[in-house]
Amino acid sequence: MTTTPTAGPRPVRAARGTRLTARGWPQEAALRMLHNNLDPEVAEHPDELVVYGGTGRAARDWASFDRITASLRDLAGDETLLVQSGRPVGILRTHEWAPRVLIANANLVPDWATWPEFRRLDALGLTMYGQMTAGSWIYIGTQGILQGTYETFAAVAAKRFGGTLAGTITLTAGLGGMGGAQPLAVTMNGGVAIVVEADDSRIRRRLDTRYLDVRADNLDEALRLAVAARDARRPLSVGVLGNAAEVLPELLRRSAPIDVVTDQTSAHDPLAYLPAGVAFEDWREYAAAKPEEFTRRARESMAAHVAAMVGFMDAGAEVFDYGNSIRGEARTAGYGRAFDFPGFVPAYIRPLFCEGRGPFRWAALSGDPADIAATDRAVLELFPDNEPLARWIRMAGERVAFQGLPARICWLGQGERAAAGLRFNELVADGTISAPLAIGRDHLDTGSVASPYRETEGMKDGSDAVADWPLLNALVNTASGASWVSIHHGGGVGIGRSVHAGQVSVADGSALAAQKLERVLSNDPATGVLRHVDAGYPEAEAVAERHGIRVPMRGR
Ligand code: NAD
Repeated sequence: MTTTPTAGPRPVRAARGTRLTARGWPQEAALRMLHNNLDPEVAEHPDELVVYGGTGRAARDWASFDRITASLRDLAGDETLLVQSGRPVGILRTHEWAPRVLIANANLVPDWATWPEFRRLDALGLTMYGQMTAGSWIYIGTQGILQGTYETFAAVAAKRFGGTLAGTITLTAGLGGMGGAQPLAVTMNGGVAIVVEADDSRIRRRLDTRYLDVRADNLDEALRLAVAARDARRPLSVGVLGNAAEVLPELLRRSAPIDVVTDQTSAHDPLAYLPAGVAFEDWREYAAAKPEEFTRRARESMAAHVAAMVGFMDAGAEVFDYGNSIRGEARTAGYGRAFDFPGFVPAYIRPLFCEGRGPFRWAALSGDPADIAATDRAVLELFPDNEPLARWIRMAGERVAFQGLPARICWLGQGERAAAGLRFNELVADGTISAPLAIGRDHLDTGSVASPYRETEGMKDGSDAVADWPLLNALVNTASGASWVSIHHGGGVGIGRSVHAGQVSVADGSALAAQKLERVLSNDPATGVLRHVDAGYPEAEAVAERHGIRVPMRGR
C-alpha cells in the first residue's frame, strides 16, 4: 500500500457549474458540499478544518480530507464510502439505492462519553467532533441560525400574540455569533427588540451587517425608542451597551413594558459570561487568572439575571430559555426558581416537531444564485397559504447574503418536504434550475435527535434520554435512498449529552432521484411524527392519520 504525501492547510472552494468532477451527481454533491463546508466564506476556522460550533470539523485532518476527495471522485454508483469521525476508512460494494457515503462522528460507548476522554482520543487522532452539520457536510452559514431564530419568534407570536410580534417589545441579551440573529429575527416578525450586549464591538458588527437597526446611548433612550416604535407597530431593533445581570433587574424595577424575554449570552460557559461589576476590559485576564472565582461570580450574576427574567414572567411576560443553559447555571448558584420558565423546544418548537416540521435546507450545486431564486418561487407557489413561510422566503431573498454555494433554508413538515423535493427535481429536469440541488437538513429536527437539555427536554412520557430514535432515523434514511447519511454524538450541547443523525439527498432531475426523494423526504420527517405519537402527543397522532403513516400500536 502506498500513502501519498499530503499538503497542509489551503483554501478550499467547491466546484461550480454543470461539469462533473466525479462519476455521478450524488458523489459530486458530497464532494462539493464537503468542500463548501470548508470554504473560507463559510467555515469559521478553515485552516483547522473547523466549520462552526467550537471545534465542529468537516474532516479529521488534511490527509483525510485529501483521501475523501480522491475517493469521492473515483467512487462508482454502486459503491459506498465509509467515513469514521472524519477519516475515510473503506469503500464497499453496495447498490444504486444505497447511500454513496455513510458517516459516523464522535460516537463513544456511553460510560466513556465525557469531554476528558473525548479530548484524549481527539489528541491521539482517533476521533473528531462533528457538531451537527459540520461533519455531515450540509452547513450553510449564518442563514441557518437566522431562520431558526425567526421560526422560534414566529412560534412565540403564534402562541401569545395572534401571529405577529407587531406592537410588542422583546428584551434579550447577547449579540454574538448566534445571538446576533435575534434582533433581525424579531423585526422580521414585526416586533421591537431591545438587546443588551457587554461588548461594544459586537454591537458595531451587528449594525454594520444590518442585523441590528440602531444603538441607544443609555437605557432611557432605548426604552423611549422601543415604546415609540411599538406604539406605531413599527419593527425596530435597539442595541444597548451594558451587563444583562445589571440591566434586566433595573428594567424590572422600573416596570418596563416588556412582552417577551429571553437570552443568548454564552451562559453555557461561565468564563464566557461577564459577571456584574467586572469591567469588560478586565474580563479575559481575570477569567484566565482566577477561573474559579470568576465562575462563582458569573454564576451569581446569572442567578440575578434569571431572577429578573422570572420577575418579568410574574408580571405577565412570555419568558423562555434559548438553549444556553442559563437556568442550570442559576440553579447551581442557588436560585430556586430558575426552572420556572421553560426551554424553547418544549415551549414553541415541539408542536412543530409533532407535525414533522423542521429545518429543511438545500444548496445549488451550480453556484448560481438564480437557481435558488427559482426554488424560492417554487416554494411560494407550492404553499400559497403559509404566510409566515412566504414572509421568510421573501425577506431571505432580500436580506440574506449567501456564503459559499447559494442555499436556502425553511421549515417544512410532513408531506411538504416531499412535495418540495419532487418539484425541485422537476425544475432540474426541465432546465429551469441549471444543475442539481443537494437537499438536506440540520440534525436539530423532529425525529433525528435525542438531547435531554434541548430538543427532547421535557418529553410528555419522560423519554428525553432515549436515543433509539435518531439511530432508527439514520437506518430509515439509509433504507430509503438518501445520498449520504450520518450518525453523530455530542452536537449542540456537548459530549455525553446528545445523539443525532443527518441525511442529504440529491435532486439531479432523474426518475431515480424522484423515487428516492419521495421516500426519503416522506420517511425522514415521518420518524419524527412517530417519535411524538409514541410519546403521546395528540397533534402527532392527527398528523400520522392525515398522512396515512402506519402505527402498529394504534392498530394501523
Ligand atoms: P457568543 O459567545 O458568540 O456571544 C455571546 C455574547 O454574550 C458575547 O457577545 C458576549 O459579549 C455577551 N455577553 C456575555 N456576558 C454578558 C453579560 N453579562 N451581559 C451582556 N452580554 C454578555 O455566543 P453565541 O454563539 O451567540 O451563542 C450564545 C448562546 O446560545 C450560547 O450559550 C450557545 O451555546 C447558545 N446556543 C443556542 C442555540 C439554540 O438553538 N437556541 C444554538 C446555538 C447556541
